[in-house]
Amino acid sequence: MQYRRKYEESRLVSVLGLAIALLILYTTLAPAQIPSPAQIHPLPQTLAQWKAAQNAQGDYFDQVKPTQPVFLIWTHLPIQVYIAPPPKGVLIKPEIWHGAILNAIKDWQPYLPLNLTTSQTIADITFSATPPQQRSGARVRSAETRFELYVNSNRNTLAHRVSIYIRPSQTVQYITAAARHELGHGLGIWGHSQNPTDVMYFAQVRQPPAISARDINTLKRIYQQPTQLGWPILDDKQGKNPSLKAE
Ligand SMILES: [Zn+2]
Repeated sequence: MQYRRKYEESRLVSVLGLAIALLILYTTLAPAQIPSPAQIHPLPQTLAQWKAAQNAQGDYFDQVKPTQPVFLIWTHLPIQVYIAPPPKGVLIKPEIWHGAILNAIKDWQPYLPLNLTTSQTIADITFSATPPQQRSGARVRSAETRFELYVNSNRNTLAHRVSIYIRPSQTVQYITAAARHELGHGLGIWGHSQNPTDVMYFAQVRQPPAISARDINTLKRIYQQPTQLGWPILDDKQGKNPSLKAE
């Protein structure tokens, strides 16, 4: 029987992420600060150039729920990625941890420009060797991805940042597989595939798959959607955004 272990970030965490995001959105925006209405950004060049083979046209875009107020699209490239060193007391060697995560980053690199940064303060996405929070009675979680929204004061735009937590007490192969899957969420795929040959399949499998054409087809469709991220924060005197009231 094929061994499977469910990824535990699942929908509950997406909902949790939504709660956190909404909270931060409305607590960091001053009353007079209003996000622009959702609009479509130009497609990143890497995705614009992507063409799936004739026999690999499918995607699972219908599984990606825009449960957030916006599609979580990176609009300022390259995306800055930081690999935090393992905290004290974690048994994995720092170079093993770093290498395992780096392999996952390299796998996504051809599709969206990712830059490894040594500065956590400028990081868009941070990997931590910290076990995800455990719900009582739940299975042991191997990984979790969370996001928060904030106002980028330099660019005066609505922005987001992502935190990925990976349980370090796994084999290197599983750490890389978990990182590859969670980075898919972090890059914008907030949903799961029903197909075990996709990286974003909802369960962990014995032989973790490579990124599939369906994964990239889905990512490309997401980046063709409107988002409030990356657009200016408006002053009240510029006119209120009526769509925000409806949310
Ligand atoms: Zn997942």
